[in-house]
Amino acid sequence: MAARRALIAGNWKMHGLAAAVEELDRVIQGFGAELSSKIDLLVCPPFTLIEEFAATAKGSKVLIGAQDCHPKASGAHTGDVSAEMLADAGAKAVIVGHSERRADHGEGDALVRAKAEAAFRAGLIAIVCVGETQAQREAKQTRDVVLRQLQGSVPDGAGASLLVIAYEPVWAIGSGLTPSSGDVTEVHGLIRNAVSARFGAAMGSATRILYGGSVKPDNAASFLKANDVDGALVGGASLKAADFLAIASRAV
Ligand code: PEP
Repeated sequence: MAARRALIAGNWKMHGLAAAVEELDRVIQGFGAELSSKIDLLVCPPFTLIEEFAATAKGSKVLIGAQDCHPKASGAHTGDVSAEMLADAGAKAVIVGHSERRADHGEGDALVRAKAEAAFRAGLIAIVCVGETQAQREAKQTRDVVLRQLQGSVPDGAGASLLVIAYEPVWAIGSGLTPSSGDVTEVHGLIRNAVSARFGAAMGSATRILYGGSVKPDNAASFLKANDVDGALVGGASLKAADFLAIASRAV
């Protein structure tokens, strides 16, 4: 199996004013040579902070990303931001299909796929999120939902260097609830098999699959050491440099 480098990604959601650059500074200071030789670390602030964060992180190993993009490169789309604009601002990655965007903005798989295509077009890593709701889990539909979202949201032209999948059970996001690491391994295995079946075994074994949902310093190791888990997408705990770095340290 190809060695996959762990990725710890922080989703700041709609948090952070200009002063938050101090928190980013703490992340940069704490991401020393030892840790940064082994894992990738990504911070995804709101759009308004991307340019300044990218400038601040320049010369460090910390990557800066975004939380969404529009499928088109430019045009009459008031309030939207394109993948090209994100790359121009210094972003290296973009989260697409987060469950909060699927729920708050009615985003479906076709739109998420178009956004992922836009990310690839702009040379950005697309972190494509999939995951079941509580009701779907209780109805034992996790497998079907995840595979359907994966099939619909991942573009045909995906390559392992720019594609990251994040398995984020919706009920685990921001709730303090988590699946067992065994459950996560099972779903990640399913995802990896589906990627292999669609894109070939080499891509299946090279694609990074992150777990997301209430990852904290005290539970991170149980997920990050589990089979088929190549990192984490972290919401709340990514807002504090000490917690984010503590989670990152559990990945090695
Ligand atoms: C997320 O927003 O992607 C997330 C996983 O949030 P949290 O870590 O707060 O559950």
